[in-house]
Amino acid sequence: GAPVVLVSACLLGEACRYDGRSQRSERVLAALADKDIVPICPEVASGLPVPRPPVDLCGGTGVDVWAGRATAVERAEGVDRTEAFQRGACLAFDAARRFGATVALLKEKSPSCGSQRVYESGQLRAGEGITTALLREHGVTVLSDEDL
Ligand code: SF4
Repeated sequence: GAPVVLVSACLLGEACRYDGRSQRSERVLAALADKDIVPICPEVASGLPVPRPPVDLCGGTGVDVWAGRATAVERAEGVDRTEAFQRGACLAFDAARRFGATVALLKEKSPSCGSQRVYESGQLRAGEGITTALLREHGVTVLSDEDL
């Protein structure tokens, strides 16, 4: 059958972004039309509210967070959200495993969902988010909306 795809909920139109908006993408919806999808927002799943303060990676990217070398902190106040972001990543991976999703289509540039570029200390750089790093570590293929 068609592959099961884990998808960033904001790309499907859910208003779960930090700024209270969605990132609805007609291209994403068209690409997924014949697929079974599992929507997930790692940050909301972790218990963080909508809206919420924007978070930057600090000291590295998602891989470095899992290695304990980097953190996820609120851009304005510097509150450490690393634990919540890791919890959200684990919940996303749980969902992928439960529903047999081997592919994910996630929102680029997010500190959770980014797969090629993320903000570190306010600068866009090459790297992946915390959820993407965990999924890839476990063999899930992660693409972004910008790959379509
Ligand atoms: Fe949630 Fe990921 Fe979308 Fe951010 S990019 S709102 S964490 S689904």
